[in-house]
Amino acid sequence: LKEEEMINNDTRLLGLMGETLGHSFSAFMHNRAYERENLNYIYINMETEKKNIGEILNGIKYLKFDGFNVTIPYKIDIMNYMDEIDPLAEKIGSVNTVKIEDGRFKGYNTDGEGFVISLAEECNFDCRGKKVLILGSGGASRAVSMTIADKNPEKIYITNRTLQKAVDLSDEINYKFSEICFPVDSVNLDAVIEDCDLLINTTSVGMHPNEDMCPIDLDLLHEGLTVCDIIYNPEKTMLLIEAEKLGCKTMNGIGMLVNQGAKAFEIWTDKKAPIELMRESLKLLLDSRKK
Ligand code: NAP
Repeated sequence: LKEEEMINNDTRLLGLMGETLGHSFSAFMHNRAYERENLNYIYINMETEKKNIGEILNGIKYLKFDGFNVTIPYKIDIMNYMDEIDPLAEKIGSVNTVKIEDGRFKGYNTDGEGFVISLAEECNFDCRGKKVLILGSGGASRAVSMTIADKNPEKIYITNRTLQKAVDLSDEINYKFSEICFPVDSVNLDAVIEDCDLLINTTSVGMHPNEDMCPIDLDLLHEGLTVCDIIYNPEKTMLLIEAEKLGCKTMNGIGMLVNQGAKAFEIWTDKKAPIELMRESLKLLLDSRKK
């Protein structure tokens, strides 16, 4: 296709709604995927203030939108505008993907599924019957911990700098699933981690420019542990570098980012996403930003 023929009257619209989107990788990753699959879609950034969300959504209904992603800080507010919410997104309590059909909005959350899919792909890890320790209780932790809770693990432990948030999130998981989740004070981590199969860092500790920081005492790591960090910049945090040295299976946050996007692609198009191309696009963008 020539450039001028790529966007035409039949082009379907997709996009990302958020407050500030200059940092986002989504448009680049999605547009390359539609181009590769010869799908007549274009994915655009829709930066907006909170007060305009209602009017924008009303307009979107009358344009050729098939859906959109939602990011910080609107993943919770957007739920008020949905006609239907997928059960897992309802449990997570936030929506990052909306599908529009016959003028109706259906909300999904693909963040947690993105994590679990990459865990299976990259570490061959299935959460069923496993013991999992999650560091952090913020927005990403909610998506990851609720999605893991949905996969029948034996136990989930959650620890957080602000312990009360770990207590609240654990209570919510136990209420929505079953009594599988336990908050842990950082002083009791040694006893807990010894018994765990999977460790996930969902805090921002170790993220660029604080590469020298680590969210956990590295002496607590052990060989049998699979260690994940959902941070993707740097590609290898200190936590992952040290875990690798011990022989642990490790995974960074790139797979989660790719797979949450691939799930959204599939929700909108009903077609298999070109995951490897999406991964390459992300890496390209990450590398270019490091320069
Ligand atoms: P958030 O809602 O702001 O939560 C931040 C979490 O980090 C909280 O648990 C917070 O603890 C903890 N934290 C922050 N600074 C800390 C410090 N100095 N010491 C100890 N704990 C600290 O953020 P989020 O949206 O969940 O994002 C968290 C991380 O996940 C970021 O690095 C983000 O880039 C990454 N992420 C990756 C993906 C992906 O697709 N790979 C997706 C989403 C997010 P308190 O509760 O005590 O403040």
